[in-house]
Amino acid sequence: MRRKLAAGNWKMNGTSAELARLTTLAESHGSAGCDVLICPPATLLSRAAEALSGSAIAVGGQDCHGATSGAHTGDISAGMLKDAGASHVILGHSERRADHGEGDALVRTKSEAAIAAGLTAVICLGESLSERDAGQTLDVIGTQLEGSTPDGASGARVVIAYEPVWAIGTGKVPTTDQIGEVHDFIRTGLTRRFGAEAGDAIRILYGGSVKPGNAAEIFAVSNVDGALVGGASLKPEDFGPIIDALE
Ligand code: PGA
Repeated sequence: MRRKLAAGNWKMNGTSAELARLTTLAESHGSAGCDVLICPPATLLSRAAEALSGSAIAVGGQDCHGATSGAHTGDISAGMLKDAGASHVILGHSERRADHGEGDALVRTKSEAAIAAGLTAVICLGESLSERDAGQTLDVIGTQLEGSTPDGASGARVVIAYEPVWAIGTGKVPTTDQIGEVHDFIRTGLTRRFGAEAGDAIRILYGGSVKPGNAAEIFAVSNVDGALVGGASLKPEDFGPIIDALE
């Protein structure tokens, strides 16, 4: 039985003033019936971990470098994230794939580095609108899944997030049939590659315009094990009801 996960991705949002939101969230959902993860910007990681320390809410990074240390100005290693209090790291988000030209091989290297440092890698996959319109969705997702996921993946160390690029921050959400088709396809790919037991234990999140108003419907879809939430994770009054819908 896979435990559900509500993951919040703050992206490049938040300064010290916003830490109070975490205290609010910890008060209302500090011991939820599902796993809860908040990925703030790196500048807030250690203070977020502190603010959430008395709760079951985990903290994660939004990216890491593939190397453990060295001459990589501006980058952060997986070990540094762990040292700052992170237990997870989002990797291969479509915004990093687009803004920084990250491809599957790099995402896989980063995932391996994250796992080696003791983090759980939240690996993001998703098709663009033109790829969906061209009927290439499953091909694109299959290629990204194969190329971005490290060998020996387990449910404890890998989470997959299916995030159609066209649904991120747009208010557009795929139909439940479209979500189900991709999640079932990813599940089949995971069990084929990692075996029935390990492949079945890896959680598959949906991400892209998840809101309190659509969460329950999305969470009812087969093989949807939770959500990766951007905009709505910034406010406890929005993220709270999404967590509630998963419990
Ligand atoms: P959104 O972002 O919820 O704001 O659409 C999701 C994501 O990019 O993880």
